[in-house]
Amino acid sequence: MKIFETKLTLQDFIDECRSKNASIGFVPTMGALHEGHMSLIKKSKESGAITVCSIFVNPTQFNDPKDFEKYPKTIQEDLENLEKAGCELVFLPSVAEMYPQGMNQLPQYPLGRLEELWEGAHRPGHFQGVCVIVHRLLEAVRPDILFMGSKDFQQVAVIQHLIANYSFEPPIKLISCETIREASGLAISSRNVRLSEEQKKQALAIYQGFDIIRTALAKQAQVSIATLEKNFEQQLLDAGFDSVDYIAFADPNTLEPITDLSLTFVVLVAAFIGGVRLIDNQLFTHELFKRV
Ligand code: AMP
Repeated sequence: MKIFETKLTLQDFIDECRSKNASIGFVPTMGALHEGHMSLIKKSKESGAITVCSIFVNPTQFNDPKDFEKYPKTIQEDLENLEKAGCELVFLPSVAEMYPQGMNQLPQYPLGRLEELWEGAHRPGHFQGVCVIVHRLLEAVRPDILFMGSKDFQQVAVIQHLIANYSFEPPIKLISCETIREASGLAISSRNVRLSEEQKKQALAIYQGFDIIRTALAKQAQVSIATLEKNFEQQLLDAGFDSVDYIAFADPNTLEPITDLSLTFVVLVAAFIGGVRLIDNQLFTHELFKRV
């Protein structure tokens, strides 16, 4: 496994791979790698691509400075896991490497409604920071395939928008991969290490909330979206969540709120427990309703 700290050395090596007709798979991360990240590495390996993983805790996407300070860092362990998984290249840039002109006066990305809805509304500037760094990483790596987790559902939509609106050469195919969960159902997240065992149990209320919606829909219960949202929020608060940022029933393509439960939709959740902000989502299709 090769480790690069500068764009130039990484690009030289990638050019060499390309000259041998290899395709490049890219998994951008902020480190503190877990099974969710490793599933993306696995998908990239399975595609036959040479796999590049970047580890960079991007300061400009944290709207809360405390969250940035507390972000877990486990670099040695991360490198061991990547090596074991057969990742070929790791990009470990410094802040100066990614922000040579500093972090003021960054480009603005027109994201339209994606920046106004849900995560966009609750984390001002977050997606601008994500776009700046992902754009720079994509220019450095120039991958054929980009692997991202659907756990960050809106982030996938934002990056799809970025790819569609800026021309990348070679063109990039974005693959959104399933959310990896603990056996309990809790979506795995780097931030979970900040939760106590008790809080992890309480956090399961998100997953249970999805199940309750699925059951209600399978029974064809006459229930409104507003009631489902209100009940879900109350369940989270009763379970011990401090506060709920949003529970959204949304169109999976536009992320706009839906009014009709009979079409495919996604439920997006963001809530705080023990001062830690968790996000999760679940796609609801008619196939799912039938299986209950
Ligand atoms: P992060 O390090 O949190 O920026 O995440 C890097 C990538 O891993 C993003 O594409 C995430 O969506 C993805 N990811 C994070 N958690 C999971 C998970 N539990 N399952 C699948 N992918 C995940």
